[in-house]
Amino acid sequence: MIQTKQLFGLPFVDATPSQWYTHIKTILHDRGKAFLVTANPELVLRALREPSYEAILRQATFITPDGIGVTAASKRMGAPLTATLPGIETARELLRTADALKKRVFLLGGRPEVMKSLIHQLSIRFPNIRFVGTFHGFGKTEEATQAIAEAQADLILVALGAPKQEEWIASVYDQVDHGIFIGVGGAFDVWSGHSKRAPKLFRRLKLEWLYRISTHPRGFEKLKDLLLFLTLVLRKKSTLS
Ligand code: UDP
Repeated sequence: MIQTKQLFGLPFVDATPSQWYTHIKTILHDRGKAFLVTANPELVLRALREPSYEAILRQATFITPDGIGVTAASKRMGAPLTATLPGIETARELLRTADALKKRVFLLGGRPEVMKSLIHQLSIRFPNIRFVGTFHGFGKTEEATQAIAEAQADLILVALGAPKQEEWIASVYDQVDHGIFIGVGGAFDVWSGHSKRAPKLFRRLKLEWLYRISTHPRGFEKLKDLLLFLTLVLRKKSTLS
């Protein structure tokens, strides 16, 4: 069993990376069903601001701490989480397992050119995966919604950014009998080579978030949110009110 700890009113996975990867890979192996949310401070704030988004997060099977911001906050708030479990790493582990087990993978999100090179890159890296649906994220999501019902996908990666990716997953989740759904934010941009992960130095200093904010088009908004999150954490407050 995977343990959780309550933080900002949400149940966060409290596990070592190895416990977590083993657990989630077993679900994939067993043709199970799960809705994974990987939560960073921005997503936590959105849940605190928008009850409808919080309600969607409550439907998730697991919420993992995506970045150092959430794990650092957990210590200050008196509910220390064992490890940061970045969504991009979880998704990569799942792709590796999907390849080893010749599973069916569905991809939704990213710009059209990103999706094109992503399929190319992933097909080389994971030759045994069967891609049973590939939709970029700027068309009508109805097409992807129709396709997912038929696809019998084992792993569904959704890169529409928050809140769209979680909203889409929640809207189709009941239509399928199995499959691991995970919102992966900007991962397709990284894997397709269209945007780089932070340089090693940033990663080593656990400053990947700083690199992302400084290179993101909505970086200023993200920075403001991060400061608000920091204020909440310093005051040990779990709500905005
Ligand atoms: N995206 C998409 N459709 C949309 C909006 C965004 O496919 O309508 C993709 C975008 O191309 C990127 C990913 O979602 O690959 C994450 O987007 P963004 O950077 O805006 O989200 P954030 O990093 O803030 O979660």
